[in-house]
Amino acid sequence: MPQLNPGLAGQQPNPMFRIGALVHGRADVLHLEFGEPDFATPEHIVAAGIASLRDERQGYGPGNGVLSLREALAARVARVNRIAAPPEQIVVTAGGTGGLMASLLSICAPGAEVLVPDPAWAGYDAMLAAAGARKVYYPLSPALGWQPDFDALERAITPRTTALLVNSPSNPGGAVFSRATIARLVEIAQRYDLWLLSDECYDEFVYEGEHVSPAALDSDGRVVTIGTCSKAYAMTGWRVGWVVAPPALAASIGLATAAQINNLPLFVQRAAAAAITGPQACVGEMARAYQQRRDLAVELVRARGLLEYVPAGAFYLLVPLARLASPDDPAAFDGVAFAEALIAERGIAIAPGVAFGPATAGHARVSLASSAETLRAGITGMLDFAADYATR
Ligand code: PLP
Repeated sequence: MPQLNPGLAGQQPNPMFRIGALVHGRADVLHLEFGEPDFATPEHIVAAGIASLRDERQGYGPGNGVLSLREALAARVARVNRIAAPPEQIVVTAGGTGGLMASLLSICAPGAEVLVPDPAWAGYDAMLAAAGARKVYYPLSPALGWQPDFDALERAITPRTTALLVNSPSNPGGAVFSRATIARLVEIAQRYDLWLLSDECYDEFVYEGEHVSPAALDSDGRVVTIGTCSKAYAMTGWRVGWVVAPPALAASIGLATAAQINNLPLFVQRAAAAAITGPQACVGEMARAYQQRRDLAVELVRARGLLEYVPAGAFYLLVPLARLASPDDPAAFDGVAFAEALIAERGIAIAPGVAFGPATAGHARVSLASSAETLRAGITGMLDFAADYATR
């Protein structure tokens, strides 16, 4: 047989995506498995997309995005992220996913090692594999509310390490890294001469503390910032995000994006521009709703004595389920089997913690992007089921 790309050959889909596919579109399931906002895309954003479809020719366009959107993004990253970057340093991408993939393709030579948090968002696995990179974990410490353990991070660096991936506010932990933590991460990237990829897909969702972008502290052009409309504007399916990168890298990221999609549809870019330049009250309203849901989830989990920490941002909560479902031997807990049984027997979908890394193999991640009623019924049902599971 002809050769396969060794990076992707035999790569299994991450269990979070398998669980997601199992329950996709099922109305009989309580959905807590994905970070999928249950809000509709705000009306003025939809209207801008429709107006473009009706009034403009939807043709080919620049691979790095239309200038008017990149100008809007330059103002946005100055406002939200304190990053001073001209439109030439911004690439419009197919969601944060496209931005991360194009960035990895632009910086990774075959065999490059990328430092990824343990736990980290499940989507990085396939991207790293496709880019021919090797994932090397650095631990986030549960005792520190899922913040980095710097000594362990430095021990994970080798001569092949190319990039340090940082995600704050984080998925799945919901941690918001302090200014001091971000400064230390930038300093480590400088000292070891690494790229720092900063996934800031949740930068609008901070409930305690402040969002600090590594690029705002970058003194020598090594930070790449990835953002998205998906979460802040409830636009997951529109597939629009961006990358802010140092000039030489921005050109490569533009090429890597164009190589995959040529250009994002114009109506999607117009909708993104409306999202970014239009009224921002919708973002605050959704953030307040997520914070209330977080408080509800925290109380439900605390009431069972299982609360390890309170997430300060994003919209996820990690629950140490193995303690309840497998109390005699938490290390033997099979989170994927549990998640499948929970769907089959109780109609509740969660993401098994093992999808995010070994550190959370005994956890379940619940998404707070679902309604309060779904959360209450889903979390209560999950915890009841875990208690029953222990007696099987
Ligand atoms: N990064 C993180 C940490 C995420 O949680 C997600 C989605 O859940 C993404 C990136 C990708 O989002 P999108 O491609 O929809 O912008």
